[in-house]
Amino acid sequence: MDKAVAKILQKDLVGNDVVTPEELSVLMQVTDEEVLAKIYKKAYEVKTAYVDNVAYYRGLIEFSNRCIKNCKYCGIRRENDKAERFDMTEEEILEMARWAYDHEYGSITLQSGERTDDEFVDYMIELIQKIKQIGDGSLGITMCVGEQTEEAYKRMKEAGASRYLLRIETSNQKLYETIHPKDDLHSYQTRVNCLKAIRKAGLQVGTGVMIGLPGQTLQDLVDDILFYKDMDIDMIGMGPYVVHHDTPLGQEALQAGLDTEKKKLERLQLGLKMIALTRLYLKDVNIAATTALQALDPLGREKGLVAGANILMPIITIPKHRAKYLLYDNKPCVDDNADKCKDCLTRRVMSIGDRVGWKANGDSKHYFKRMHHV
Ligand code: SAH
Ligand code: SF4
Repeated sequence: MDKAVAKILQKDLVGNDVVTPEELSVLMQVTDEEVLAKIYKKAYEVKTAYVDNVAYYRGLIEFSNRCIKNCKYCGIRRENDKAERFDMTEEEILEMARWAYDHEYGSITLQSGERTDDEFVDYMIELIQKIKQIGDGSLGITMCVGEQTEEAYKRMKEAGASRYLLRIETSNQKLYETIHPKDDLHSYQTRVNCLKAIRKAGLQVGTGVMIGLPGQTLQDLVDDILFYKDMDIDMIGMGPYVVHHDTPLGQEALQAGLDTEKKKLERLQLGLKMIALTRLYLKDVNIAATTALQALDPLGREKGLVAGANILMPIITIPKHRAKYLLYDNKPCVDDNADKCKDCLTRRVMSIGDRVGWKANGDSKHYFKRMHHV
């Protein structure tokens, strides 16, 4: 093993030692699987010490694929007229939320394409309020419905949502501009301002990036981790970029030969390395092992847990809508139902020696410390 890498891994990272930004760059360059396994092991130790080896579930409800935006990588972008659009009914969404509660999920995530019209925001508020009336009201709610006004974020918080997930996608503004159309609707600065507004609204702030984007460098990824720190983020949801064939970026990637098995494995490795390095650097945040990992490797999500992630987002979307919410190709679990996903993921968690945090909301320890100044 490289001397510089060995020296970093000898640090007492479970204790008070920290990784420096320069050391992150050194670790980010490692590609030897044996050395990576040592990095993952260290990250797993840090995870166990700081957030415990418990996986918390956020049942994922993908309730609509209507979107006003045109992100170049995403399968449900406005201009993809091959995507069959759907909206779940309110009763369907509530039914899934009740399923999550009955099956002892601590929380759910409501995700959709982006809409900012008043009708949509009012509907979100009503939904949050109704979900909060389920059972003893303990089901945690994470919102993931894109860029909204500060006022809308505040109303969601007041209605009972506790977290908000808005990925920065990449913290390199230039790269951000190449993967989005150049117009006011897709502004990097607006995205950053939204993250600040989410925090101001009192919500736990979640962000993340896509990993292995065409044109992204290893230093970009290091900078992404530094961005999480700068923004004092509570939870991270990031995953490999996965090609969707009916998108402009997907077409580019296909033509540039970036969608071969070899390239996919590289993106998987990068995705796992990002999880591990984020754990080593930030220690007490929540980090999700996302579905995109599994799109590239059947064991992708458990590998994410082994590399330091502590959150899973089992899909609870009812079967008839699953195949229509396709952000990228080869989305796993589209033929499954919520019961199957629960059993399957639980086996995955136990297979690596973690436990499931049934009923627990699994709030970010980082958020707790931030609120209590410890
Ligand atoms: N519309 C909302 C939420 C749904 S999209 C929003 O954009 O915030 C949720 C996430 O899916 C995005 O943030 C993006 O990071 C991810 N995503 C979209 N297309 C993807 C692709 N081709 N590969 C990997 N992740 C993708
Ligand atoms: Fe819409 Fe989100 Fe996809 Fe962008 S990433 S096109 S905002 S669903």
